[in-house]
Amino acid sequence: MNQKTKYDFLIIGAGIAGLCLAQQLEKLGKSFLIIDQETEHKSSKVAAGMFNPISGKRMTVNWRVQELLESLHESFNEFETLLGKNYLVSANIIQSFGNIKESNDFTLQLEKSNFSRFIGSNQIEIQGLNQEFGSFEVLGSGWVKTKEWIEDYQHYLSEKGVLIRRKADWQEIKPQGIEWRWRDHDFEKVVSCEGYQYQENPHFHWLPFKLCKGEVLQIKCVGLNQQYILKKGVYLVHQYDDVYKVGATYEWDFENEKPTQAGKENLIDKLEKLLTLPYEIIKQESGIRPTTRDRAAILGEHPLLKNLYCFNGLGTKGMLQAPFLAKHFFEAVYTNTGLDPKVSIERFYSFYSTSQI
Ligand SMILES: Cc1cc2nc3c(=O)[nH]c(=O)nc-3n(C[C@H](O)[C@H](O)[C@H](O)COP(=O)(O)OP(=O)(O)OC[C@H]3O[C@@H](n4cnc5c(N)ncnc54)[C@H](O)[C@@H]3O)c2cc1C
Repeated sequence: MNQKTKYDFLIIGAGIAGLCLAQQLEKLGKSFLIIDQETEHKSSKVAAGMFNPISGKRMTVNWRVQELLESLHESFNEFETLLGKNYLVSANIIQSFGNIKESNDFTLQLEKSNFSRFIGSNQIEIQGLNQEFGSFEVLGSGWVKTKEWIEDYQHYLSEKGVLIRRKADWQEIKPQGIEWRWRDHDFEKVVSCEGYQYQENPHFHWLPFKLCKGEVLQIKCVGLNQQYILKKGVYLVHQYDDVYKVGATYEWDFENEKPTQAGKENLIDKLEKLLTLPYEIIKQESGIRPTTRDRAAILGEHPLLKNLYCFNGLGTKGMLQAPFLAKHFFEAVYTNTGLDPKVSIERFYSFYSTSQI
């Protein structure tokens, strides 16, 4: 580890959130340490890394979508230069309808909404995809090879001596006037990027998260078109060779982080409706998404503790949102421009009371 004792930032958590903040800090020339405990069920490593400008059954265009997409591409161009690998794959989605009603609803929605700029052809035929009720192409989408990127960037940060592998104990992270101290090191500011483990953080456990467990399968299937992401109830994202990630489940009541038989059956059931080719299951994984009650991220300073920040709540769309939100976060910290109210922690200040500490 670095021998330096005074830093600008201490980041807790090196998932998608913490790593996107680290990238911005490097660009800003700020010093930092990042502490991360490796966990098997880290949401960021299980994620398919897919990004899609439109979301949900009601097909709404994402909040600030143009800026989200621009920041995502800019960020991964920079990672390509830094780490020497291309992690972002641009790939349109071929979304197949589940029934006639879905197809009719889509046509109606297309006439009255603003997502048509992201809709391509409805004539693309894909071998192995069940398109009995028709399909359409979503433009501007793709995926990030999330696990590979996380491992490579964490390795780079380790080599620089700024990533520490351990669980951060909040009893050891203490305010010193308006600054913070962890062991022998002083920090101007601390940011919690702990994902669903925010629950163990004594300063932020009061935030209104509504966690959502997700499970995915990895399958081997020969003969599919790897140029597209396929979607029908579940998505199929190419990984390597003939291997695809199939996901995901959305489980709002769950006992623990581990993969379940019910999750597997749910995915197989949907996969059978999507695929017309034989496949073999090779792996099952699970993780917990840091989803919030109003489905928006939570960024900003603690209501009482100066220079203690939260950057969390990336929910189901960590990859699409994190690069833009990391830039937005530091603009707010360093220029006092204020955070977009949709993602600012201030919307939840009324949930906080000192009795909860
Ligand atoms: C099955 C599934 C599929 C998904 N698919 C997609 C997808 O296709 N596209 C997409 O954009 N999003 C997807 N997501 C959502 C995405 O994974 C999340 O939005 C994102 O990973 C959240 O990142 P995070 O860094 O906030 O949290 P996490 O990934 O949970 O990372 C938090 C990190 O902080 C560490 N940590 C926590 N507390 C401490 C502590 N006290 N000390 C040290 N370290 C600590 C943890 O160990 C972990 O490494 C998916 C999620 C799941 C579960």
